[in-house]
Amino acid sequence: MTDQSTRLSVARAAYEAVSLYDPKRAPVALDLTDNTNLWGMPPVAERTWREMPVSRITRYPTLYASELKQALATYVGVTPDMIVTGCGSDDILDSAMRAFGEPGDRVAGPEPSFAMIPIFAQMNALSYVGCVEQPSHEPDVDALLATQPKLLYLCSPNNPTGAVVARDTIERVLRDAPGVVLLDEAYAEFAGVSAVDLVPHFDRLLVIRTMSKAFGLAGLRIGYALGQPALVMEVEKSRGPYKLNAMAEHTALAALQHDMPWVNEHIALAVTLRERLAVALRTRGFTPLTSHANFVCVPVPDCVNVGLALRERGVAVRPFPGLPHIGDTLRISVGPWPLLEQFLAAFDDVMAARSSA
Ligand SMILES: *Cc1c(COP(=O)(O)O)cnc(C)c1O
Repeated sequence: MTDQSTRLSVARAAYEAVSLYDPKRAPVALDLTDNTNLWGMPPVAERTWREMPVSRITRYPTLYASELKQALATYVGVTPDMIVTGCGSDDILDSAMRAFGEPGDRVAGPEPSFAMIPIFAQMNALSYVGCVEQPSHEPDVDALLATQPKLLYLCSPNNPTGAVVARDTIERVLRDAPGVVLLDEAYAEFAGVSAVDLVPHFDRLLVIRTMSKAFGLAGLRIGYALGQPALVMEVEKSRGPYKLNAMAEHTALAALQHDMPWVNEHIALAVTLRERLAVALRTRGFTPLTSHANFVCVPVPDCVNVGLALRERGVAVRPFPGLPHIGDTLRISVGPWPLLEQFLAAFDDVMAARSSA
C-alpha cells in the first residue's frame, strides 16, 4: 500500500489510489496459484532457449515481432496484420486502454473477473465500473451496457470462476456496446471454444490471448491480440516498438512451429485432470464450479484461513473471499495428478484439523 503521507508532490494525480499488485505469492513448495503450465515448457522451445545465440541478446529484437505475428496468425487462422503482440497479455490490455480511452473514460467489466483490469484502468486514468455477474456466472450484460463504457471487458473462460461467456452474450455485447470490446481468452485453449471467428465481423472487437498458460511460457511474457487491422494498429501505436524481447520471440516461434503436439497433449491432460480434481472435491462434500479453464474454483468457507493453513503445509492456492453469489472460494491450478494429490492430502489435513478444533 502507498503511504499517502509520504507521496511525492510531483506524482501524477490519477496514481494516488494506485497500489502495487500483490497477490501474496510468497515462495512455497507447491504453487497452485497462478494457472501456469505445471508440466513445464514445450521441449523444442526449451532447446531453442538453451541454444540461443548471444547475438539475440546483443542485438535489438524485431520492432513489432513480425516473425512471431506470422506464426501466431497461422495458429489462430487470421492474417498477420490482424495481430498485435505484447510483453504478456497484460501489456496488451494496458496498451488497449491507453489506445482507446481518454482520461476519465469508463471501463466496465464483470465481477468477479481478472484482478488486473481495475488496476490497468487506474494506471491509464480511466474509471473502472464492476458489474456483479448473474447467479449463473454469466456477465450481467444489461448492467454492463448501461454504464455506456468506452471499453467493455469480458473474460472467457472467466478468471476466477472458469465459466465461458455464451456466444449470444458476446454477440449482443458486440452489437450494443458503444466502444471497444476487450475479450480476454487467456484460457480459451482449455475450453475448446473461442470467439476469434467473430473478429472479421466486428471492427471494435479485440480478442486477447497469451502464451503464459497453455504454452507454458509465462516467464517470457508473450501476449497477443487479434482484431481488424485498423483496431490492431492503434494498440500497436500505444504499445510502442521493441516490447517483445528477442529471446521470447524466438522461443515462442519454436513452440508454435514444432511443439503443437506437446501443447495439445497437455491441454487435453489438464482438462481430464480438472474433471478428476472436481470429482475428488465433490467426493469430499464440496461443490466446485463448472470450469472450462485449467483451474478449479471451489467454495470453501473461511477460505483465507484455509489458504494460510495450506501454505503452512507447503501448498499455495488462491483464496477469493466473499465473491458475489458464491462466497468464500479457493482457486486451484490444475497440473500433474501427483501434485493435485499433494494438494488434496494437505486439504484433507487442514479440514480435519479445523473440524476437531
Ligand atoms: C493469466 C491471465 C492473463 C495472462 O497474462 P500474461 O500477461 O499474458 O501472462 C490474462 N488474462 C487473464 C484473465 C489471466 O488469468
